[in-house]
Amino acid sequence: MKRAYVDKDNCTSCNQCADNLPKYFMMDEEDLSQTHFEGSSINDAMIHEEDEKKVQKEMDECPGECIHWKKH
Ligand code: SF4
Repeated sequence: MKRAYVDKDNCTSCNQCADNLPKYFMMDEEDLSQTHFEGSSINDAMIHEEDEKKVQKEMDECPGECIHWKKH
């Protein structure tokens, strides 16, 4: 299972990922995105294998290019 996080320094607060895939993305109190899974694993979310393509799409379309897979 892969893990994903947001490099908040480059997040533009566009809300795109949180709107498209709220299962894994949520905005924080500073309006910066972070990953999560069911409200936990904040900015260190485990991504289910069947959802990896959806998360990859958000990575590819993120204007800040700031959503990344965590290196193992
Ligand atoms: S799509 Fe990228 S820039 Fe936009 S809120 Fe999500 S992480 Fe931030």
